Amino acid sequence: MKNEIRSGVLPARKKLNINWSDTIFLFVTHAAAIAALFFTSWTALITAVVLYWIGGSLGIGMGYHRLLTHRGYHVPKAVEYFLVTCGALAFEGGPIQWVTTHRIHHAHTDRTGDPHTPRDGRWWAHIGWILFGTAQIHERSTLEHYVPDLLKDRYYRWLNTYYWVPSIFLGIMLFAFGGLGVLLWGIFLRVTLAYHATWLVNSATHLWGRTRFETGDDSRNSWWVALLTFGEGWHNNHHAYPTSARHGLRWYEIDMNWLGIRTLQLLGLARAIKRVQFDRRTSAWQLIRGRVSRTV
Ligand SMILES: [Zn+2]
Ligand SMILES: [Zn+2]
Repeated sequence: MKNEIRSGVLPARKKLNINWSDTIFLFVTHAAAIAALFFTSWTALITAVVLYWIGGSLGIGMGYHRLLTHRGYHVPKAVEYFLVTCGALAFEGGPIQWVTTHRIHHAHTDRTGDPHTPRDGRWWAHIGWILFGTAQIHERSTLEHYVPDLLKDRYYRWLNTYYWVPSIFLGIMLFAFGGLGVLLWGIFLRVTLAYHATWLVNSATHLWGRTRFETGDDSRNSWWVALLTFGEGWHNNHHAYPTSARHGLRWYEIDMNWLGIRTLQLLGLARAIKRVQFDRRTSAWQLIRGRVSRTV
């Protein structure tokens, strides 16, 4: 029964406990995303694409995930704050809550305690854990266990509570300079699509795809989730080597977030980059750290 996947939204062992604020918020966001389709323009489309990249790649992939959660590389504090603030624009919660949830996922992957494993149901892993769970609301003791590094940072403590402030500011700007269509596309449609892309990393890449490494969990490499998430879909690679800043390990495993980190390095901003490389002498993958001298 270990690998059985239930099709329901709620895992049997979890109690029904609707998170009303998130549920209503997600309903409004999805409705506004549909409304955006009636206000289509090139300006609105381009705005949404650029912001999808800023929030999804600079923010979630390079900032919240590879930098804050796993410390796969280092950047000056100002650059770190910039990337994490971009992450807040994705509206997936504050950095402390997000990182805590994700570190718990890595500590208990596809076992009891994993906040969003498909073993509790495919829809649970995708969205049920947000609608019915309390996975993004962590107790102080949990935070102290999983994110003592982030709790020390005054800016992250502030942004964790007020992560919505940059988006409100951005929304006002979009409405003032672009009108309703640009607001609906740049905030609501873009955020909704980015939500599902992120959630697919929790659901689809623990269900479908190829495995390169024997990780003891259900993580998979999914090219189409990687395309939607700027490289986060190479999830089996990631679970095998969580601290590697590079997730797509072969040239054909497109990893835009890695290219972003490489760009930061070429600008002299990223250092101590951890990554996985294939060692031909030992015929094995290995984690190395330091300056990247060539692109494989
Ligand atoms: Zn995972
Ligand atoms: Zn991770």
